[in-house]
Amino acid sequence: MEASIPANEQDRLAALRRFELLDTPPEDAFDHITRLAAKLLNVPIALVSLIDQDRQWFKSHLGLAVRETAREFAFCAHAIHGDDVFMVEDATLDPRFSNNPLVTEDPGIRFYAGAPLRTSDGLNLGTICVIDRVPRPVLAPDEQEALRNLSSMVMMLIEARQAVGYLHPVTGLSNRFRFLKDIDNVLKQDGPAASRTGVVVFDTAASDQYATLARSLGQVMADLFEVAAARRIGDALPGRPKLYHLSAARFGCILPLPDDAGLEPWLDAATAGLGAPILCQGVPIATSNGTGVALFPSDGANALELLRAATTAAHQAMEGKTPWCRYDAAQDHASQRAFHLLRDMVPAVAATDQFRIVYQPKIDLATRQCVGSEALLRWVHPDLGPISPAEFIPLAERTAFVRPITDWVLNVVLAQVAQWEKAGIRLRTSINLSMLDLEADDFSNRITALLDHYGVSPDLIDFEVTESALMKDRGKVNRQFKRIRQLGIEFEIDDFGTGQSALSYLKYIPASVVKIDKLFVQALTTDRNDQIMVRSTIDLAHELGYRVVAEGIETVEVYDWLRTHGCDIGQGYLMSRPLEAPAFEAWLRAGGFSGQPQKTLCGANAGND
Ligand code: C2E
Ligand code: CA
Ligand code: CA
Repeated sequence: MEASIPANEQDRLAALRRFELLDTPPEDAFDHITRLAAKLLNVPIALVSLIDQDRQWFKSHLGLAVRETAREFAFCAHAIHGDDVFMVEDATLDPRFSNNPLVTEDPGIRFYAGAPLRTSDGLNLGTICVIDRVPRPVLAPDEQEALRNLSSMVMMLIEARQAVGYLHPVTGLSNRFRFLKDIDNVLKQDGPAASRTGVVVFDTAASDQYATLARSLGQVMADLFEVAAARRIGDALPGRPKLYHLSAARFGCILPLPDDAGLEPWLDAATAGLGAPILCQGVPIATSNGTGVALFPSDGANALELLRAATTAAHQAMEGKTPWCRYDAAQDHASQRAFHLLRDMVPAVAATDQFRIVYQPKIDLATRQCVGSEALLRWVHPDLGPISPAEFIPLAERTAFVRPITDWVLNVVLAQVAQWEKAGIRLRTSINLSMLDLEADDFSNRITALLDHYGVSPDLIDFEVTESALMKDRGKVNRQFKRIRQLGIEFEIDDFGTGQSALSYLKYIPASVVKIDKLFVQALTTDRNDQIMVRSTIDLAHELGYRVVAEGIETVEVYDWLRTHGCDIGQGYLMSRPLEAPAFEAWLRAGGFSGQPQKTLCGANAGND
């Protein structure tokens, strides 16, 4: 007669899977226990048996050759129904077992006693059992007690075995490997639990912050910090889910929520108290917290993906100075793209075919004469195609890459200007600089050397500069401004009107030109506010002795408006798109700007912009 299926079978099987014992090789520790059981109870067969879905599988099998049998014949499948030792004195006399092939055939079981292997959550995974080929009376109370004790030993072994390699020694929390396995185990379950799985990552310090802490106060303090951080997070978590240690100052948990509705309140509550400094041996240590959450299946298909997504979200929260962030695929995509671009910039500078310079004519609005051009950088990425400098220059500015890029631009443009000068084209060329370029002490010396090298006279070069929030050292920048000015190179204040302190630049940048951003120019003939802005900028700049350039002129109407209101110079698609050097020369030879939209050139060179 087959044993019935326990009521908690699903949980029981899940727990069994979690312990990862099934089909593992024999281990001495388990074999020692079965040997002890056989000796103590004086039987030829002792087993550690685990009841799997349709089989019993032996983690240790003493006195029996097979490693598994069908569940339908397993005595242990009966034993796991109770909490105490299950005994059969003579199987041939017991209607449940008398026809069992394990009784009628090999190994000829007559006597059986098994103690369930019970987890701390009360799930019986299997048994430790002893078997004899002859009938025996039930075990004496002290023998039963011995079997129970052996069962506890097996369980301790199973639990300890699971913890090995999965514990973070400092905090005593399970580690990232355990976290990933536990997430995957939850995902493997069917039903609503899996479809609602969420992964939460808590960052308590930026990575450099933790490294600094360990370096300056020592590893002991860093360890104390982690213990205290773990305690603080653990105490704050509603529902008290298990907390894991993922990496230095980073923790995680599986979201204990059955539905989305509770997500925000849960995260609000979990992160509410995380801002304050952490006290370690009386020393308050500042934390930077960011908590990220990723939900299955929308934010990741498996544990690794969910963890990565939640970590990204935690990073976004820290950067955005919000307590927590839900994973945002679009933002993640953007930062991955940024990462790729940054990585590929170095080879791009060295490659000959990825970076190019195009030149956009600058026109004297009154005479329609071309008076110069602006050099604009183009990057054709081998996989991603054309990338706008508006995208990759700000990225480069956040790293050490601006300098090699600026050097590349300077070399190409100065070589071109020298070549033009030889060919009789004497036009001023503007080069865009990053404020970060001007923070380098040797920048003006590099310029001097380059002018020298290419034989370019400084009055053929302009630098366009924009305020940057990234500028750290205004003193250094001002020194470079002065020296470059002394070389005879002029400065234009670029994107005028868009920055926070546009007027204050006028005070410290020794510029001679103010360049009104296209933001104010494009809709000039229809937007009254833009008209006021531009008119007053032109007047103010003139009064202070600056020349005024307007960029982004796309229509004859805007051109005429600017000319009538006294703007000196203009730049825009109406006159010409940015052109490759040969196309720019051809445009000049063809007479430059005629006063009419340059249809053919616009069309032909649209791809260059
Ligand atoms: P920017 O200095 O404000 O350059 C003007 C931008 O407006 C250029 O975009 C130009 O192609 C575009 N433009 C010109 N006329 C028109 C027009 O009529 N309509 C419209 N819609 N746009 C027009 P681009 O070339 O994409 O450059 C973007 C930004 O990248 C530049 O803004 C500049 O800040 C930066 N940049 C470009 N080249 C360099 C470089 O070599 N070094 C540095 N540091 N920055 C550069
Ligand atoms: Ca510019
Ligand atoms: Ca601009």
